[in-house]
Amino acid sequence: MTRFSAWNVFWNGVTGQKGWSRQWRDPEPKSHYDVVLIGGGLHGLATAYYLAKNHNIKNIAVVEKGWIGGGNAGRNTTIVRSNYAQPGNREFYEDSLKLWENLSHELNYNVMFSQRSHISLLHSPGAIDGAARNYNVMRQTGTPDVEIWGLDQLKTAVPHLNYGPNARFPIMGAAVQQRAGTARHDAVVWGYARAADALGVDIIQNCEVTGITRNTNRITAIETSRGTIKTHKVGLAVAGNTSRLWSMAGMGQLPIESHKLQAFVSEPLKPLLDQVVVFGMGGAHFYISQSDKGGMVFGGDLDWYKSYAQKGNLPIVQDVAEAAMAVLPCLGRVRLLRHWSGVVDMSMDGSHFICKTPVDNLYLNAGWNYGGFKATPAAGTYFADLIANDRPHKVIANHDLKRFERGLQIDERGAGADPKLHG
Ligand code: FAD
Repeated sequence: MTRFSAWNVFWNGVTGQKGWSRQWRDPEPKSHYDVVLIGGGLHGLATAYYLAKNHNIKNIAVVEKGWIGGGNAGRNTTIVRSNYAQPGNREFYEDSLKLWENLSHELNYNVMFSQRSHISLLHSPGAIDGAARNYNVMRQTGTPDVEIWGLDQLKTAVPHLNYGPNARFPIMGAAVQQRAGTARHDAVVWGYARAADALGVDIIQNCEVTGITRNTNRITAIETSRGTIKTHKVGLAVAGNTSRLWSMAGMGQLPIESHKLQAFVSEPLKPLLDQVVVFGMGGAHFYISQSDKGGMVFGGDLDWYKSYAQKGNLPIVQDVAEAAMAVLPCLGRVRLLRHWSGVVDMSMDGSHFICKTPVDNLYLNAGWNYGGFKATPAAGTYFADLIANDRPHKVIANHDLKRFERGLQIDERGAGADPKLHG
């Protein structure tokens, strides 16, 4: 495969773009793989890449029912940050952010990671105190770039927020992470796919898993729409479809519910917002950034009913529009270009699972709620480590299904350390 470099981009530019090879193969499924990852989203592809690269396992397949990145990978609002305060989440998301900082080089693919900072608005002295407590914990434990801003600093950085005397929720300050930002979600999918394929991973699209064959406590094969595939190990990374695959493996209930989350993009505008801004107050919930093409990319709360449909309801559209007007009234006449929804896998404490399961050779990656995009590099790294070594790394030791039995909840509401901070 042709590597991307300044010289190659230049040379192909002047020679008609004819020198590029295919970015990844389109192989027929083999009858046997050492590891099969179900789900060609961010986590399945990243795990395959790190399994091949860090653990030298080469006979790997990623099977995807549609096209890679067609699930939540291609539907999210692309926010990347590590401002989590709970032990376990804190280390995990900080590790992930460090991996993001070198990801374009690692994959030889520009994932357009933009560390534009993440600003959570604070609207009461209590909210400022709570955020200060959490951010102090983070600063003491390895996340140095988080801080609390007063109103003057915030006004200088983001002048056109609703600071007026009649604001419904007066802004009093902000909790800020400077190294946070956004990346291009499709590019992350394509970058991992291309890099995994170069290491020999078979990426098999249009291949839906329809059944899982078990011999007592081991999976022997998976049934797919393209035939039976035998395998030694299976990793589940199917986000909102986790419960479906779980029951195919003949198991009971999971502490996961599938909920819809919508996102929106406006018509392109001239540069308006340099940062990611988050607003969550009085039941409202809203986060927004501006894409490189100029579209305002934003989202809000879950639809709050369970569904596998990848489309959302109108009350949330109204809710998000109201929240937008409360903090950025200048958006009032901007037209909406598109809106869509994804099915997110909500765990009961808002934190993820990367763990072994009651079936010996079945491994689980799920429960990402709103946070799985930013988690991608670390999720891939630690899930690959778990599958290769059959034991959890200490960073994910408590991200297992039994934590509830132990009375240990990693409770950050799927969001992180700020009140109502999502994305
Ligand atoms: P996915 O990318 O959904 O991949 C799972 C794949 O499994 C899918 O491609 C699906 O087709 C496949 N699959 C399912 N069933 C089968 C089957 N039977 N056989 C084969 N394949 C199957 N996270 C952030 O960090 N920041 C954000 O700003 C953010 N915003 C979001 C906004 C929205 C609207 C949504 C929906 C999510 C958002 N997220 C965000 C969450 C993030 O997108 C997900 O957590 C992340 O994509 C999960 O990655 P994944 O690989 O587990 O899932």
